[in-house]
Amino acid sequence: MIDTHAHLYDEQFDADRDEMIVRARAAGVEGFIIPAIDSTSFDRMMTLCRSYSDCCFPCIGLHPTSVGANYESELSFVEENIDKYKFKAVGEIGIDSYWPTEYAEQQIFVFEQQIKWADARGLPVIIHARQSFDVIFKVLDRVRTDKTRGIFHSFTGTASDYAKIKSYGSFKIGVGGVLTFKKSSLPEVLKEVPLNEIVLETDSPYLAPHPFRGKRNESGWLPIIAEKLAEIKNVSIEYVDKITTANAVETFGLLDY
Ligand SMILES: [Zn+2]
Repeated sequence: MIDTHAHLYDEQFDADRDEMIVRARAAGVEGFIIPAIDSTSFDRMMTLCRSYSDCCFPCIGLHPTSVGANYESELSFVEENIDKYKFKAVGEIGIDSYWPTEYAEQQIFVFEQQIKWADARGLPVIIHARQSFDVIFKVLDRVRTDKTRGIFHSFTGTASDYAKIKSYGSFKIGVGGVLTFKKSSLPEVLKEVPLNEIVLETDSPYLAPHPFRGKRNESGWLPIIAEKLAEIKNVSIEYVDKITTANAVETFGLLDY
């Protein structure tokens, strides 16, 4: 299994990071896509990915909630570093309309710019969409090219949001712990999403699945999400693993994985 979204460099793992990765591998999680946030966590991310170069694959990007007064220098940081390593994706990028911000316009500018950089390099994008599908679709409708592809990470949209994403024909749906929450409408929506359009993710250390909701999340709990998805799709967990892993390998170009 591949955890396609895990912030394993987060300080919450400082005390037991190695053990946590051992636990994840023992649970069958063999690869980790590591999304970037901003320049302040970049060195920590790279240190992790260099010491686990066989399984931790870094991305580069400026997260929408890190778009603030210094957004220009943060964006320059992405541009300066994007070709210095074989990053697997540009992300996470997108729009966050959940947390109040005076930088909504700048979030759009930063998102657009990073889509263009990803396209120019043939890289996928990892899109953070929080209460922001309308804005994100407007941006994609405006700047998308035939190269634009990637993942809608931690998808919690409606059936019509999914229909719009499907119409682009080049995005996969990232499914995480929210699927296991008691009142989630996601199981209903995912019934309409074919397994070959889904990748698994934890978003560790956030969004721990039931029955660990509210705790620090870790990649070793990815099988809980796979199991819930297997139940919804009425297939075996092995089949979910096989298809979603193939989707992740294809999306991130993990050819030698
Ligand atoms: Zn994230």
